[in-house]
Formats: sequence, structure tokens, C-alpha cells
Amino acid sequence: MFISHDLSTVRYLSHRVAVMYLGMIVEQGSAQDIFSRPRHPYSIGLLSSVLLPNPKLERRSEVSLQGEIPSPIDLPKGCYLASRCPFVEDACNARMPDADDIGNGHLVHCFKHGNVIDEEKATLDYFERFQEEAEKLLSTGL
Ligand code: SF4
Repeated sequence: MFISHDLSTVRYLSHRVAVMYLGMIVEQGSAQDIFSRPRHPYSIGLLSSVLLPNPKLERRSEVSLQGEIPSPIDLPKGCYLASRCPFVEDACNARMPDADDIGNGHLVHCFKHGNVIDEEKATLDYFERFQEEAEKLLSTGL
């Protein structure tokens, strides 16, 4: 098991990835699914915050997380992301969503993951693309 905040390394090393927020796994699946088709708003926020060393590979996202992070010693009874999530609805504050299996072992704890994928247009795996471009550059000897 490899635990890190360095998403570039996680992408490079991992076959399966679990995203945690405030001590809870909110999304898990194959590395390819998590990096190219994230469904949980926190996963999208996390991926969007990564700076890649090439402006052409900036990961743009329609999903923006704002607001306060709950105290880890006084967690809400509903979804932990409810105070920051642009998709929040009443049900999110009432209880924590169960995991939905959306195929290929891709599990997501979010009532609105169907809406999230409609909003999120950044479906390319930028880490994979960055690696491909870096390999092209290195092979030319530059
Ligand atoms: S369950 Fe609700 S608050 Fe939690 S991530 Fe999904 S939409 Fe946002």
C-alpha cells in the first residue's frame, strides 16, 4: 500500500486508488478510472489542484470546492463534504451516502455522482498525457 498526497507519483505507481477525505474513503477504483473519470466532487477538486509543469496540460474543472472544512473531531452526520460541495442537497446533510458501484469496481460515496459527471468536462487523464509528452521529449534528446 502506498499513501501519498503526490498524485503524480500515485498515478505512476498504482493500479488501484482510494481517495480519502477526513478519514473516509469517498471514491475508489482503477487508477485509470479515478484519474480520467473521477465522480466524487472531492476527487475532482483534488485532481484540479495539481500543478503540472506544462501550461498546455492544465487540468480545468467546472467543479469548485469552497467553504469550511469540518473539524475532524466534530464531524457532521451527513456527507463530510456537504459544507463545501457545489452539488449539495438536503439529503447530503441528513446522512452519509452509501457506496455506489458504477462498474469495474469503481465505488463512489455521493448522492449526485450522475450530476457530477455531467458537469465535469475534464475527462482526459492529464497525468498520462504528460508522461507521454515527456517521453516524446526525452526520446528526441532535448
Ligand atoms: S453526497 Fe452531496 S455533499 Fe456529498 S459529495 Fe455528493 S453531492 Fe456533495
